[in-house]
Amino acid sequence: MACPFNSVKLFDSHCHLQWHEDQDPVPARLQRAKDAGVAACICVGVDIPSSKRACKLSTQHEMVYSSVGLHPNDLPENRVELEEQLSLVQELSQDPSCIAIGETGLDFFRDQSDPDLQRESFRRHLEIASDVDLPVIIHCRDAYPEAAQLLENFGAPISGVMHCWSSGPDHVQAFLDLGLHISFAGNASYPKSEELRESARIVPSSRILIETDAPFLSPQPKRGKRNEPAYIRHTLDCLAETRSVSAEELAQTTWTNSMSLFGLK
Ligand SMILES: [Zn+2]
Ligand SMILES: [Zn+2]
Repeated sequence: MACPFNSVKLFDSHCHLQWHEDQDPVPARLQRAKDAGVAACICVGVDIPSSKRACKLSTQHEMVYSSVGLHPNDLPENRVELEEQLSLVQELSQDPSCIAIGETGLDFFRDQSDPDLQRESFRRHLEIASDVDLPVIIHCRDAYPEAAQLLENFGAPISGVMHCWSSGPDHVQAFLDLGLHISFAGNASYPKSEELRESARIVPSSRILIETDAPFLSPQPKRGKRNEPAYIRHTLDCLAETRSVSAEELAQTTWTNSMSLFGLK
């Protein structure tokens, strides 16, 4: 795949390189990403082993940054175990490669984890992020009004991103008002996702990010294949068209926003 631009770099703000390492080694995937113009990505943890692996991959590959956290659908069974795992998240957040806390949040679409435990875990991730002064990567599904309320009740200012935005434009403003960024993934490129594209139209250019959420949610031209960071350009193209800007301009905007939100130079 040829690099789409000469001078602009792409930032995949959310992927899970830890998946399928035995079938598709990370160096090969990163090479394909580089060939497609991707110059940085955040490898996101969803539990303790994947958070540790994200930190390790980050130390091995210059273009990879890491985030550590417990996905709302991957929580332990009870509060005692949650506490133990949260102290490990806090410990891992000290890793020099770690640039964000998460993914955390609320997911009431799949009810694998107890909603009260999800709320508790989300609040505790916000506390950790605030303690260690890192932005939060927030996962939200079928829980937008409640997530906004929980963030507002938290009180302290929060910097972070609503990753893989999966709702219509009505919910966007509440999160912009909280100071958060909004990130769009491959599902925004599906023919039926007009609501997501309407959301993408109203996010100010200072707050928009893009991501693959690989290996999930391959963008439209790659649907049916396993997603990877190299495919982010398809989501970029779709969002650029949606927002009536050039792909180069949106690549530059989302690069600058990612670097600034995650405190990178
Ligand atoms: Zn997620
Ligand atoms: Zn994810």
